[in-house]
Amino acid sequence: MQFELITIFPDFFLGPLDHGIVRRAKEAGIVQIHVQDLREFTRDRHRTVDDRPFGGGEGMVLKPEPLFEAVEKLLGHGVGDAERKVAPDPGTVILLMSAAGRLFTQETARRYAKQERLILICGRYEGVDERVAEHLATEEISVGEYVLSGGELPAAIVMDAVTRLLPGALGNQASTENESFREVPGEVIKLTGRPGAVLDFPQYTRPAEYRGWKVPEVLIGGNHAEVAKWRREKALEKAGRNRPEWRGENG
Ligand code: SAH
Repeated sequence: MQFELITIFPDFFLGPLDHGIVRRAKEAGIVQIHVQDLREFTRDRHRTVDDRPFGGGEGMVLKPEPLFEAVEKLLGHGVGDAERKVAPDPGTVILLMSAAGRLFTQETARRYAKQERLILICGRYEGVDERVAEHLATEEISVGEYVLSGGELPAAIVMDAVTRLLPGALGNQASTENESFREVPGEVIKLTGRPGAVLDFPQYTRPAEYRGWKVPEVLIGGNHAEVAKWRREKALEKAGRNRPEWRGENG
């Protein structure tokens, strides 16, 4: 899997991708990450990447030219123009990080994990010229319903979520199987109706008693069927508490 980031702050990624699973995946060659400085695609002395919005208003908007040219350099070919649009490369997703985009979910992460290449465009300022969303990006993606100051953190989130789904990225492959938002088999899907609408069960470790708070007895008992039943119940209980909006979907 190849990740390519386009940003005006390349140094932003020095930290977030150098720990734990993502770092190991890089070292093992499971992912390759390339950070492209957007300013290399400017031609003026000031290396200008932004300009004022047509129609008026506050702030600045990222210009289309450097973004189109940066992506085209990565692709190794042009994407065309209004007269002649070039078809996107199969296996390649070009993502525009955008507060106004479609919500990125675990299901989206699973879909991206099957691709070969993800190009992530990080916006800044008031956002990005809309022609990038319309004619360059293949998808416009939001990591949550809040506004951040740039697309770099969202891009790191997408890369992290996708990387840990790649074969071999987690030492123990079983560990994605029981996670929150996993693809649910028939039994659980009945309870929620929506793919991914399932949460992890509560986990405990030693000590069995801490400050008087005890680990649930059933987990210590060693009865696997009882443990499985308890975990299902607790995961649902937690979903009821933390995701009341899922309740309606249970019929
Ligand atoms: N004016 C825009 C916000 C711009 S924030 C609006 O109101 O929708 C600047 C940049 O940060 C955006 O271009 C985008 O790349 C990034 N960004 C901010 N919030 C984001 C989110 N929730 N998900 C993904 N990207 C986001």
